[in-house]
Amino acid sequence: RDDLRGQEPYGAPQLDVPVRLNTNENPYPPSPRLVAALSEAIADIAGGLNRYPDRDAVELRKDLADYLGNGVTARQVWAANGSNEIIQQILQAFGGPGRTALGFEPSYSMHPIITGVSGTRWINAHRDEDFGLEAERAVAAVEEHRPDIVFLTSPNNPTGTALSLDAIEAVLRVAPGMVVVDEAYAEFRREGTPSALSLLSGNPRLIVTRTMSKAFAMAGTRVGYLAADPAVVDALLLVRLPYHLSAVTQAVARTAIAHQEELLGAVQTLRDERDALVAWLRGEGLTVADSDANFVLFGRFPDRHRVWQGILDRGVLIREVGPPEWLRVSVGTPDEMAAFRTALKESL
Ligand code: PLP
Repeated sequence: RDDLRGQEPYGAPQLDVPVRLNTNENPYPPSPRLVAALSEAIADIAGGLNRYPDRDAVELRKDLADYLGNGVTARQVWAANGSNEIIQQILQAFGGPGRTALGFEPSYSMHPIITGVSGTRWINAHRDEDFGLEAERAVAAVEEHRPDIVFLTSPNNPTGTALSLDAIEAVLRVAPGMVVVDEAYAEFRREGTPSALSLLSGNPRLIVTRTMSKAFAMAGTRVGYLAADPAVVDALLLVRLPYHLSAVTQAVARTAIAHQEELLGAVQTLRDERDALVAWLRGEGLTVADSDANFVLFGRFPDRHRVWQGILDRGVLIREVGPPEWLRVSVGTPDEMAAFRTALKESL
């Protein structure tokens, strides 16, 4: 093939269109103030780039622990190139041939893909009709299959729905192995929606994963991280490649955390924009899943591809993902959302 852009198995084409609302990116690039700080941070370390970086990313882990709060210590934090690499390291440490990982579909497509690559067998369980997950359903699936790893995603991608602490605690009580709660979209939660971070103490088999790709608007930097028992971090140290996180990555990530006030201000803007979008879609008579994330799943379209194509023809790229009659749109800037609303209306 002569196309340099690979498309499989991730399935999210990177098309060159004016409005890209298909991969749940943060639409706000670094501000001039942040760009200046990032340039300074990189200039500060540039004279030492002949040396390998800190293998253990100690300073970054301290900053991430401070950011997480909830009593989380740097010893409980581990960082890698995106939460995708964190998930891969978890599977390398706790999965592998002869082991199993279970997830509740529809959910993040990379969980089964990375599971397969690691030689772990994937077990597909299902969410409720409304894309939530009742404790009883979750417990029944875990008791039936007794997987080595359970993946829970909250807020979930592509549905946007979040889990109750009851459901997570119920899974923790019966799971024979590790329980991963993927919280890539944690910062976009609505008021009152819980995080599994509060369950860390007393649950040594719980792993909470997070990312700087979304709320921190650093998808291009590739920093994901986890909070877990220190023994989990020790297990990942055995499988990580030495020096996996570059000095530049660590410096950029630390600078972004130092500017968290500004970055999290933009998160609030996106949450408001998300709520307005949900209300608008419902007002248009569409079915919309509850969203605690920076994207919204809406439907239902017997021929969703036609609607998706109509929107794309008007310069707006969204995503055909999840159950067959639904579409997912990421929350963008007010101008991008206006373009999306017009494109959708014209495509229906
Ligand atoms: N987890 C979930 C639920 C996601 O939706 C994503 C990305 O979209 C990721 C993890 C991976 O994010 P990253 O590797 O950029 O940290």
